[in-house]
Amino acid sequence: MTARVLIVDDLLPNIKLLEARLSAEYFDVVTATNGPEALELCRDGRCDIVLLDVMMPGMDGFEVCTRLKADAATMHLPVVMVTALDQPADRVRGLECGADDFLTKPVDELALIARVRSLTRLKIMLDELRARATTSANLGIIDHLSAQTPNDGAKGRILLVEDRASSSDRIVAALRDLHDVEIEPHPQEALFRAAENGYELVIVSLNLTDFDALRLCSQLRSLERTRSIPILLLADLEDRPRILRGLDLGVNDYIVRPIDRNELVARVRTQLRRKRYADSLRDNVQAAIELAVVDALTGLNNRRFLESHLASALEHAAHNGRPLSLMILDIDHFKSVNDTYGHDAGDEVLKVFAQRIKRVVRGADLICRLGGEEFVVVMPDTPLVVAEKVAERVRAAVEGGQFPIDPAATRTIPVTTSIGLAERGADANADALLRRADKALYGSKASGRNRVTAAAA
Ligand code: GH3
Ligand code: MG
Ligand code: MG
Repeated sequence: MTARVLIVDDLLPNIKLLEARLSAEYFDVVTATNGPEALELCRDGRCDIVLLDVMMPGMDGFEVCTRLKADAATMHLPVVMVTALDQPADRVRGLECGADDFLTKPVDELALIARVRSLTRLKIMLDELRARATTSANLGIIDHLSAQTPNDGAKGRILLVEDRASSSDRIVAALRDLHDVEIEPHPQEALFRAAENGYELVIVSLNLTDFDALRLCSQLRSLERTRSIPILLLADLEDRPRILRGLDLGVNDYIVRPIDRNELVARVRTQLRRKRYADSLRDNVQAAIELAVVDALTGLNNRRFLESHLASALEHAAHNGRPLSLMILDIDHFKSVNDTYGHDAGDEVLKVFAQRIKRVVRGADLICRLGGEEFVVVMPDTPLVVAEKVAERVRAAVEGGQFPIDPAATRTIPVTTSIGLAERGADANADALLRRADKALYGSKASGRNRVTAAAA
C-alpha cells in the first residue's frame, strides 16, 4: 500500500524533514511551497494525501483546506494540517475547514506515519468507490457527481462505549444537542448493538476496566456489518503505543484526554461527514448495479441478467442431470394498445402483465423482461409436460382478467398472450434454447394467438 503525499510548507527545511521520513516508509512525495501551487497539484490529481502547513504567507493553510473541500474535484483528498501551535483553537479551526486531521510541529514520527497510513487506507477505499460510481456515470446509468449533496455531519447516531459514568456524562453533555448518543458500558454488548442498530460512529474508551478496548476495535473492523462504521478512540496521552496500534487496526481517529469540547465536536463531525460520503458513493454503486440488471418499468430482471443467469442455470441443470424449461411470452396485438390508448396505457399493461405472471409461477422460476412486450420465464427442475401446464395457467391468468390502462384503474381492456415453450436438450446452450422457444412462440402467433406451443424436443 503506497500513496503519494503532497507536502505543503513555505519553509524548505520543514519540507525536507517530512519528505525524508515519509520516503523512508516508501511513500512517494511531491512538494509545494505555497497555497496556489498546492491547489493546482491537487486539482491535477497528482497526490493522494495533503500535509498542509497552517502558517504560510499569502494564502494560509486554512484557506487552502477550505478551497480543497469546496471543490468536487478535490473534496475527497484527506488533508492533515501541520501547525506549530499546539492550540486547541487552531486544531478546531482546521477541522472546521474540513481538515481530516492535524499534526503539531515538531512532527512526531510515529504519529505522522500512523496518520498517513490510516488516511491512505481511507483514500484507497474512497477511490475504489468513486471509480465504480464514475464508471456508472460514464455509462449514463447514474449521475453521481451532480447528485452529490454536501452533508453537514449533523444529527449522527452515535454509540459510546465507556464504563465510567463521569467520563460518559461529559461526552454526552458535549454532543447531546447535536447528535443522538447512546451509552454502552459492556464491550461485548457494544459489538452486538453496533451490528444491529445502524450507528454512524462508535466512540470507544481505551481505558475500559477488565477489557482491552482494542479487541473491540478489531472485532468491529472484522465484522461485515460493522466494518464501515468509523471508530473514534478516547485515550490518555500515556497510551500512545496503544493509540498507534489502534490506528493500525483501522481505528479512524482518536482524541486525547482531557477532552476539549470543541475538538470532540469537530472530530465527530468529520467522521460523520466522511462516513456519509462513503455511504452515498456505495449506495450509488449499488443502485447502478441494480439498474444494470433490473428493468425499471416492471421491476423484473432484464435481458442482460437473463443472459448470464440462463447460462449458469443450464450448466447447473446439465451437471445434475435435471430438466429445465423456458417459456417466451409475447403480448398479442400490443401495438394496437399503444395506438388506441396511448403509450402510457401500454406501459400500465406491461406492469400489470409482469405482476400477473409473477403471481402464477413458482418463486424458484426467474421472470425477465426480454424487451418490449416480450417476457421470459426460466423454470429450473421442470420437464416440458409440467411447463406446459404452467404456461397454460399463465395464458389463462392473462386472458381471465381485464387489464387497467391507468394507475387508478378507471378503465380496463382485455389482453391476451401467446407463449412458446422449450426444454433443454442434451446439448442446449442458452441461445439455442431461446431460439427454439421463440420458434414455438411464432407457431402460437401463426395459429391464431392466445395459445401455448411447445417445441419438439
Ligand atoms: P403480435 O400479436 O404479433 O405480437 O403483435 P404486436 O402488436 O404485439 O407486436 P409488434 O411487435 O408489432 O409490436 C410491439 C409493440 O410494442 C410495438 C412497440 O411500440 C410496443 N412497445 C415496445 N416496448 C414498449 C414499452 O416499453 N412501452 C409501451 N407502451 N410499448 C412498447
Ligand atoms: Mg413482439
Ligand atoms: Mg406482441
